[in-house]
Amino acid sequence: MTAGSLASWLRCPICGRDLDALGDEVLGCSSGHRFDVSKRGYAGLLVGKAAAARPVTVGQLDALDPLFAAGLFTTTTDALDAVLPRTAEARILDAGSAAGHLLGPILANRSRAGALAVGDSPAVVARSMRNSRSDGLLCDTAHDWPVRDGTATAVVNLLAPHRPAEFHRLLAPGGVFIAAVAGYDHLAELRPAGEYPEWRDAAAELVDDVFPWFEHDQSRTVTEQHETSGATGPALVEARELIGGTATARAVEPPAGSITIDLTVIRFRRRRRPV
Ligand SMILES: [Zn+2]
Repeated sequence: MTAGSLASWLRCPICGRDLDALGDEVLGCSSGHRFDVSKRGYAGLLVGKAAAARPVTVGQLDALDPLFAAGLFTTTTDALDAVLPRTAEARILDAGSAAGHLLGPILANRSRAGALAVGDSPAVVARSMRNSRSDGLLCDTAHDWPVRDGTATAVVNLLAPHRPAEFHRLLAPGGVFIAAVAGYDHLAELRPAGEYPEWRDAAAELVDDVFPWFEHDQSRTVTEQHETSGATGPALVEARELIGGTATARAVEPPAGSITIDLTVIRFRRRRRPV
């Protein structure tokens, strides 16, 4: 992770030309625009008025640690590992992976792969970099990303909002887009008593949403129960919105006994041209 590896992903958010590292702490384009590398090591390329993202708290991020340490998402990580290509020179763009927890163990086994964590929350980008040894980019993810065309071989977007047209642009020909979506039973024990969300097939909806840009390749569904404990129960409540839980305004109690994991990891192939 250096200013040079960081710059290799990026283009200027103002004029669109490639960014280069000008020393260890500054990135710049040939038009003369300059951007600092933050003390935490990510490129801060927010320009203009960014949409107000809902802030992710340190408490939510900390709560992810005991959940992953307890192995609640080990099978999901294995499913992700199985669908992520093993090319030595892979360039993986992390557009949401539970603050790097899902991608970290995978990158540890792919020592030559490059990775860039992209997000609109400084806390999440910094935590993703720490958990997965990625480069980091803070930007307004609701608009055009200051990422070069065709620079990634894979985009990983787990339980986070997807931007299929943008993912298509920044993927190289032959690239893959890997998503994870929550099934109906995912974290069902965390729903307030008597609250049943409307049934929907999130995986099928995603396949339809991305169809113009991506072709469905394969899906792997993870459905399992895990015993909860004094550490994981409260952490599940705290971190639920970062791990695919449904948002609710009502009070949520730690689950008594066990928790259901119901996730589908889907791999898509980039179409040569959008249809
Ligand atoms: Zn520029």
